[in-house]
Amino acid sequence: MTAQIIDGKAIAQKVREEVAAAVAQRIAAGKQPPGLATVLVGDRVDSATYVASKQKACQELGMISFHHHLPANVSQEELEALVRDLNADRRVHGILVQLPLPAHLNEERVLSLINIEKDVDGFSPLNIGRLAQKGREPLFVPCTPYGCVYLLEQAGVPIEGAHAVVLGRSNIVGMPAALLLIGKNATVTICHSHTRNLPEIVRQADILIAAIGKAEFVRGDWIKPGAAVIDVGINSKPDPTKKIGYRLVGDVNFEEAKEVAGFITPVPGGVGPMTIAMLMKNTLRAAEIQDV
Ligand code: NDP
Repeated sequence: MTAQIIDGKAIAQKVREEVAAAVAQRIAAGKQPPGLATVLVGDRVDSATYVASKQKACQELGMISFHHHLPANVSQEELEALVRDLNADRRVHGILVQLPLPAHLNEERVLSLINIEKDVDGFSPLNIGRLAQKGREPLFVPCTPYGCVYLLEQAGVPIEGAHAVVLGRSNIVGMPAALLLIGKNATVTICHSHTRNLPEIVRQADILIAAIGKAEFVRGDWIKPGAAVIDVGINSKPDPTKKIGYRLVGDVNFEEAKEVAGFITPVPGGVGPMTIAMLMKNTLRAAEIQDV
């Protein structure tokens, strides 16, 4: 069996086009363009690259981006004061504090301060709490898990009643992905670094979400035939045939898994492009919520 490849790049592009059309309609109707404030603390190269991509996406879709770059030694009070200012700024509909923050800052306190209506990353305790509770709806779902579930839905993979195995329990991917799948009536097993007999558990998965950050860790013979495999991992693997000396691979051994799975996302070009597309969708929603 050869799996159907879920083309995240094409699906993300479609989401972006839909968002751009809705933004143009808002502006034609005399409403404000959605505004996204990004806050970057320190000089981590990866964080700066992510933030730059988010700002670029805003521009491409007709939104406004407001960028704030704070030094690595900024105090908790200064960062909190900025978040309060952004909460009060009516041009700003969404606030994104790029994680991780330097160790001296209290991430939980900063995220708690973001007005729930502007929490487009979906990481504030209120949004996560609502995601975790039966019958409650978060205003925003964290972007990467939202992208994973969106890909499953677009591929026509049934979620209700399926056994979903989530590898990883981080606050930004694994845990919210598991909560989202439970909310969609999947039966969910969450695995982490202390889980025993991982291959046996993965073999039971109708849906596998892999988010552990270990190159090609999941082998083809762990996959249940016909399963849907969503590979969130982004890892660099040495590759002397490439000019840069490496290539990006996921947490799943793609070549092996695609022979067994029913559906699979590639890396790159699977979940990666969805994260920013869903952030743009969340920012549009934030503007719509704040219209009324
Ligand atoms: P974290 O490092 O925060 O979390 C990794 C999780 O994997 C932890 O829960 C950890 O367990 C678990 N884990 C580690 N080793 C094993 C193991 N051997 N067996 C089982 N579980 C294990 O990573 P993130 O969630 O932030 O990211 C995961 C991957 O997804 C990374 O490759 C990252 O680059 C990628 N990513 C991709 C995004 C995208 O847009 N496509 C966005 C965000 C992340 P424990 O809790 O016990 O430590």
